[in-house]
Amino acid sequence: MSPATLDPPLHLDVLIVGAGISGIGVAHYLQAETRDKTFLILEARDTIGGTWSLFTYPGIRSDSDLYTFGYEFNPWREESSIAPAKMILDYLERTVEDEALHARIRLQHHVTSVAWESADGRWRVEGEDLASGKHFELTSDWVFNAGGYYRYDQGYTPDFAGAEKFRGEIVHPQHWDRDLDYANRRVVIIGSGATAVTLAPTMANSAASVTMVQRTPTYILEQPARDRVAHMLRRLLGFRLAHRIARAKNVYMQQLFWKVSRRHPDLVRKLIRRANVKALPAGYPVDVHFNPPYDPWDQRLCVAPDGDFFRAIRDGSLTIVTDHVVGFTENGVKLKSGAHIDADIIVTATGLNIQPLGGASITVDGETIDLTQHVSYRGMMLDGIPNFAYAIGYTNSSWTLKIGLLAQYFTRLLRYMDEHGWNACCPTLPPGGLTTRPLLDFGAGYVQRSIASLPRQGSASPWLTSMDYYGDVKLLKRAPVQDGNLRFEVLGARRKATAA
Ligand SMILES: Cc1cc2nc3c(=O)[nH]c(=O)nc-3n(C[C@H](O)[C@H](O)[C@H](O)COP(=O)(O)OP(=O)(O)OC[C@H]3O[C@@H](n4cnc5c(N)ncnc54)[C@H](O)[C@@H]3O)c2cc1C
Repeated sequence: MSPATLDPPLHLDVLIVGAGISGIGVAHYLQAETRDKTFLILEARDTIGGTWSLFTYPGIRSDSDLYTFGYEFNPWREESSIAPAKMILDYLERTVEDEALHARIRLQHHVTSVAWESADGRWRVEGEDLASGKHFELTSDWVFNAGGYYRYDQGYTPDFAGAEKFRGEIVHPQHWDRDLDYANRRVVIIGSGATAVTLAPTMANSAASVTMVQRTPTYILEQPARDRVAHMLRRLLGFRLAHRIARAKNVYMQQLFWKVSRRHPDLVRKLIRRANVKALPAGYPVDVHFNPPYDPWDQRLCVAPDGDFFRAIRDGSLTIVTDHVVGFTENGVKLKSGAHIDADIIVTATGLNIQPLGGASITVDGETIDLTQHVSYRGMMLDGIPNFAYAIGYTNSSWTLKIGLLAQYFTRLLRYMDEHGWNACCPTLPPGGLTTRPLLDFGAGYVQRSIASLPRQGSASPWLTSMDYYGDVKLLKRAPVQDGNLRFEVLGARRKATAA
């Protein structure tokens, strides 16, 4: 895809920030469910796909099945339902093609600030065209921020004492060196999240040894990479209908598993332990390496497609060590227990740096917005910020399930405003305010490190950031657009025209 430049002066109905899976999905709904809205997606990178083009570490794949992580409107046609990044990228490229969205995407356009001006009833958007190095400006009635939730330029690495002494290579999965040759070398992976669980069995295929050092164990479950029911349905009903049914089945299973986990954590813990015992060699210390101190779904569960992770442990190519890294030495990693693990390569799978809303500064009538002072409305807008929506998906099931629902609410809202002749809409807290709490009830390290910098949520709908898909279907697809918490207005030129 070749970069293109904006033709100033430009005014849009909707600006979408980010051409990841969320931004592309929002663009589809905007195109399909509103009439004649002008919109563009501005994407800072030189390619679409966000997460799925950024990460290139060995084995990079989804944890979710693509019947739910893919779009409702575009059937998943591949053999495997847990998919490698390349397959997801191809799917996104195909979606852009099928939906004729190429002309709507401007690559290498980094949005640096969005400023709401009530006098004009629109956003003034500024940024940099990274191809030409030129500044650009445009105005837009709405900003839909689909800029993701983490920094692209820098993954998270804690300060490891002695890192400078290590004579081998240190690599962070977010900045993978494609030339890194790990065949027949000793690898230590630090971390226990989805990235470490993906990397470990993949590298173990050719490394001399792989040791995954984890401070805290994670729940890991074997899952077939291929969805047999979906394949049978495809043969009988064709791709489109099979996708719909497989998606409904998998949503149901994800939600059921999550709800049972929340209500009966001890039962689910026992069931996961039983599955782990079965998958590991006899006498393996399951209660040391597979026994997280938190309940299932306090953090995202990790998936081992076709049991790859357990197979690598069984065949001896992967070793798990549960301990604290106290520092690096010339030859490897020193642990709190006093043990030392020799390494030629250290992979710091230590996580992400959260960055809300793509890092663009937001002002409303000249005042800089401090996100921590704002409360999320229907999980997609913020009180006191007019004509602004954002894409944060589920953390307990496929991210995109939520994005589809909130994009549908967004298009309903635009149609509702058009019907009434309004051009400004702002969520407004009830008189007396709300008791608020952190935006996400999620224990992952990267969320906990940054939770204080995120907006807040209330304790009841519509101010709650819900993780309940079926509840969200009611709230976002079916409930009336106006519930008394939105202030609608006519602003700017349209106001002057109405008054005249
Ligand atoms: C390795 C990894 C694996 C994951 N696996 C899963 C999974 O299996 N299932 C699941 O549900 N979730 C998973 N997630 C979470 C995942 O990030 C989301 O599911 C989803 O890909 C996020 O898509 P997005 O479009 O919202 O954001 P992103 O993929 O982050 O895309 C955001 C885009 O916005 C652009 N952008 C950001 N700021 C600006 C700006 N200021 N101006 C212009 N452009 C901007 C970025 O360049 C990027 O292209 C995973 C995350 C990671 C890191």
